[in-house]
Amino acid sequence: MTDCLFCKIVAGDIPSDKLYEDDEILAFWDIAPQAPKHFLVIPKKHIAAPVDIEEEDDRIFGKLMRIGSQLAKEQGVGDGFRLIFNNGAKAGQVVFHIHMHVMGGRERPWPL
Ligand code: 5GP
Ligand code: ZN
Repeated sequence: MTDCLFCKIVAGDIPSDKLYEDDEILAFWDIAPQAPKHFLVIPKKHIAAPVDIEEEDDRIFGKLMRIGSQLAKEQGVGDGFRLIFNNGAKAGQVVFHIHMHVMGGRERPWPL
C-alpha cells in the first residue's frame, strides 16, 4: 500500500527505531510512547485492522505475540506488560496497518 505509513516504515521510506526484523514481521519503538516501554510489532503484509485478518494469516499472529513477548523480556519491560490491538477509530486506531502495541514498565490496574 503506497499511502500507508507502516508500509512505508517496512519499506524503509520512513525511518524507525527498530527492535527486530525478519522477512515477515517488524518491531519498532512507538514515536509517542504511552508507557515507559512502548513498542509496536507489525506484520510486513498490509492488513488494515484485526477485522481484516484472514485464515491464512493465523500463524503470523501467533508469531507476533511470541516475538513481542520475547522482546519485552529482552528490553527489561518486566513480567507485567500488555499486548494490545486497537480495531477501528472508535477504539483509538489511527494507523490502518494492523499493529500490536507492547506496553509496560509500570504497574497499571486492569482495565486502565
Ligand atoms: P493506534 O492508535 O493506531 O492503535 O496506534 C498507532 C501508534 O503508532 C501510536 O501509538 C503512534 O504513536 C504510533 N505512530 C504513529 N506514527 C508513527 C511513526 O511515524 N513512527 C512510529 N515509530 N510510531 C508511530
Ligand atoms: Zn500498510
